[in-house]
Amino acid sequence: MLMNDFVEIHTPKMIGGSSEGGANVFHFKYFDQPGCLAQSPQLYKQMAICGGFPRVFEIGPVFRAENSKTNRHLCEFTGLDMEMEFKNHYFEVLDYIGSMLVFLFKNIKERHAKELSVINDQYPFEDFVCADPVVKINFREGVKMLADAGYKQDELEDLSTETEKALGRIVKEKYNTDFYMLYGYPVSARPFYTMLDPKDNRFTNSYDFFMRGEEITSGAQRIHDPVMLEQRAKDCGLDVNTLGEYINAMKYGAPCHAGAGFGLERIVKFYCNLHNIRKASLFPRDPQRLAP
Ligand code: ATP
Repeated sequence: MLMNDFVEIHTPKMIGGSSEGGANVFHFKYFDQPGCLAQSPQLYKQMAICGGFPRVFEIGPVFRAENSKTNRHLCEFTGLDMEMEFKNHYFEVLDYIGSMLVFLFKNIKERHAKELSVINDQYPFEDFVCADPVVKINFREGVKMLADAGYKQDELEDLSTETEKALGRIVKEKYNTDFYMLYGYPVSARPFYTMLDPKDNRFTNSYDFFMRGEEITSGAQRIHDPVMLEQRAKDCGLDVNTLGEYINAMKYGAPCHAGAGFGLERIVKFYCNLHNIRKASLFPRDPQRLAP
């Protein structure tokens, strides 16, 4: 990222308000006011874009009060977040991130063959296959591929874990790749700050990336118009008073921008096909584990 003119930033992890909303927020008392642990650097990295940084990234802890016992959720994980301006279309960002990941996957194989073979000895896994150029599929096309294979999926609803995995298998069969991108999600599946598709506002300019049929990142073009942003926050039932500074940052003129957030433990888990994300974390945090 540094080679591509991204500036590394560090954003606060203790924040006011309700982070990005939703149920999975860790709340705590910050002296005499409520505070919470950041669910992502989302709002801050966008404020940096508004402040004149065309490309930013951060690698840091992300906190989610996920009270579930899945094999792919931690309560604290390492996020790689990035955000960048674009000129004409959000695919400029989507394609950049796609090629960055292909670069990453190729280099892991070349530079870390020794470490991979140590993991393989203990937890044997099938080689990770990545098509280059990256396979890019529209959400509605994905729904059609699922329907053709006999899976029921509403095109205005998010995929379930089951349909995500099924689509991963279908894509692997058709394109021989363990990595692909799905874009154009329905509005019900994305947070308030996601730009709506100008041609059909039931959908958004957003994307998810998948490894071995499971999500490793979510991203989107963000709303850069403060009036639209405030309206979307209200429509999604958020308290706009707690978002004042974020919305204000757009009032002085914000460039078109898009970005993404990755969970690095998930990338390791799916690259090495580990059966549990805890194996990709030195000191995992889950609902039962707060020590060591
Ligand atoms: P999921 O639907 O899998 O719970 P999400 O939609 O909540 O994920 P985002 O909020 O978009 O995820 O977060 C971006 C990325 O961060 C995800 O694609 C994933 O790689 C990672 N991530 C999210 N939640 C967790 C978690 N609890 N543990 C580990 N990684 C996570």
